[in-house]
Amino acid sequence: MALQGDNLVVSVRKLEKMLSMKGGKGESSYANNSQAQAKHARSMLHLLESTLDRVQLESSPETPFAVADLGCSCGGNTIYIVDVIIKHITKRYEAMGSEPPEFSAFFSDLPSNDFNTLFQLLPPLAINGGSMEECLAADGHRSYFAAGVPGSFYRRLFPARSIDVFYSAFSLHWLSQVPEIVMDKRSTAYNKGRVFIHDAGESTANAYKKQFQADLAGFLRSRSREMKKGGSMFLVCLGRTSVDPTDQGGAGLLFGTHFQDAWDDLVKEGLVESEKRDSFNIPVYAPSLQDFKEVVEADGSFGINKLEVFRGGSPLVVNRPDDEAEVGRALANSCRSVCGVLVDAHIGDQLSEELFKRLECRATNHAKDLIEQLQFFHIVASLSFA
Ligand code: SAH
Repeated sequence: MALQGDNLVVSVRKLEKMLSMKGGKGESSYANNSQAQAKHARSMLHLLESTLDRVQLESSPETPFAVADLGCSCGGNTIYIVDVIIKHITKRYEAMGSEPPEFSAFFSDLPSNDFNTLFQLLPPLAINGGSMEECLAADGHRSYFAAGVPGSFYRRLFPARSIDVFYSAFSLHWLSQVPEIVMDKRSTAYNKGRVFIHDAGESTANAYKKQFQADLAGFLRSRSREMKKGGSMFLVCLGRTSVDPTDQGGAGLLFGTHFQDAWDDLVKEGLVESEKRDSFNIPVYAPSLQDFKEVVEADGSFGINKLEVFRGGSPLVVNRPDDEAEVGRALANSCRSVCGVLVDAHIGDQLSEELFKRLECRATNHAKDLIEQLQFFHIVASLSFA
């Protein structure tokens, strides 16, 4: 069996060009493995709605009310959330006794996102001719103009002063790149033997922290140019409760335990060279509240309505938690839906298949622990632009 895949190797540093959740509608696609994100987002709806209550509404705006979901991916979650946002704002207009404006919704993600699958999920438009009330009453229809915006949210995406509401969920923990020194064998930050920073060396984790903070600063700088005065932003990303960045909490369990062991299996079996494993790093950083806060405060453009750690729950959605095989499969699929594209690019499809098989097997053997221990915490930020 030729399990080399060398001709398929792509440097993770070219992350922006290739990062995406698994597209399509297959078993390990993001569309089929994002129920946990959906559940966690629903449990935070009250926080989103109080952020929306802070948006300043113009009584007769000349431009459409604009909503942007950054890191929208290709599942149904983004469509659900955009609908919630627009319905809430419409209600606020009605409560003011004003006719709601027209709405624009921008679905934004990296260019490699499967926008085709997303666009096919969009319900048909119901605006022409009808009043806004009729549109909203027409179930299964959308009452906004939709557009896809490809690009990195760590840079500019929209014209200045054009967006009223920014929403971004489960995306900002993805770094723009693996820090160069983590890939440099001569550096103390070289992540030898590991594929994530959980339980890694202190300098490796600090390099990730620095990258996260530089990225978040770029994100806020860009949004502060793009947001209309009086607009609000609701951000949710993976977070951790520990001060120590080498303890990545739920993200650490997902990428730093059985996934790590599965890589080590491939090395032991001689299918992957140890250096090949060492040059793979998951570009995710789960910040502490302090890590996040420092950047928002240093930027200074946004008022903080809320900034807190929120217990999100398990990333595993299973019908029968005592069915070990189902739990193992759910963990492997959920891991593969978010980082499978990166693994495929690093070791090729066949070895990637082997890796996720081993992950499934290991997760099946530890199903009980996973159900008991795998918990995600999120950083939730509600910010306003005065
Ligand atoms: N918000 C969705 C999807 C979260 S998955 C939900 O709630 O289900 C995370 C998404 O962030 C992925 O689609 C990934 O491509 C995107 N992402 C990661 N880094 C990004 C970047 N720098 N710019 C834009 N999108 C990014």
